[in-house]
Amino acid sequence: MPMDTVTLKIRRQADKHARPHWDEFPVRLRPGLNVVIALQDIRRDPVTTDGRKVAPVAWECSCLEEVCGSCAMVIDGRPRQACSCLIDGSRNIITVEPLAKFPVVRDLVVDRSSIFENFKRVMAWVPIDGTYGLGPGPRMSQEEQEAAYPLSRCITCGCCIEACPQVNPGSQFMGAAVLNQVTLNISHMTGWMSRAERLKAVRGAGGLSDCGNAQNCARVCPKSIPLVDSIARLNRAAIIDGVKRWFSR
Ligand code: SF4
Repeated sequence: MPMDTVTLKIRRQADKHARPHWDEFPVRLRPGLNVVIALQDIRRDPVTTDGRKVAPVAWECSCLEEVCGSCAMVIDGRPRQACSCLIDGSRNIITVEPLAKFPVVRDLVVDRSSIFENFKRVMAWVPIDGTYGLGPGPRMSQEEQEAAYPLSRCITCGCCIEACPQVNPGSQFMGAAVLNQVTLNISHMTGWMSRAERLKAVRGAGGLSDCGNAQNCARVCPKSIPLVDSIARLNRAAIIDGVKRWFSR
């Protein structure tokens, strides 16, 4: 293998029922190379290191600037965005796999709809009806806005869920991205008004009590969301709300 070449070792699967296998592809090293560009090279000429012409590798990407979250995959064992993963030639072989906590659609494309199904469970939106005048809503202070903003940076990439040991076939844990969305929603003055449903959902199966505090989520989040703090804040809110409800029975 020439020194100006790097090998991408890609875990592939023709469809969700197919057996996974590995293909290795040579990619020309050059300044600014990242995993998305390497995958684009491979798509143009999908010939493996042992000279076999194979089907182009399927993957997802959109914004190419770590904003859309669609190119999340496991690169050298770590969940991350392919667009911001530079290849500098310090390693001869780079392994690329689909996220393992979601069903594979094809090659590196996975079905992340479980995140959105869990968003529905916790009502991860602020309900407003814009078809008629509601009058002025409650005001958020500058401090409240500043505290909420970091939580709003989630790009639904699924890296936190991939890295979480509590998300496994034997668990219903909804994962940090979903819990964080609840913290964000109840920190909004309008969202706070419908906190009862959200907090009930996170106190239920697959919610807060399934978090094992491994803290991997915060380590891998590409948007540096303070997920451990966010989940702790949610835990406090859920406990206080639960106690108040118990005393008001
Ligand atoms: Fe991705 Fe971070 Fe959102 Fe999890 S919380 S889905 S790691 S951006």
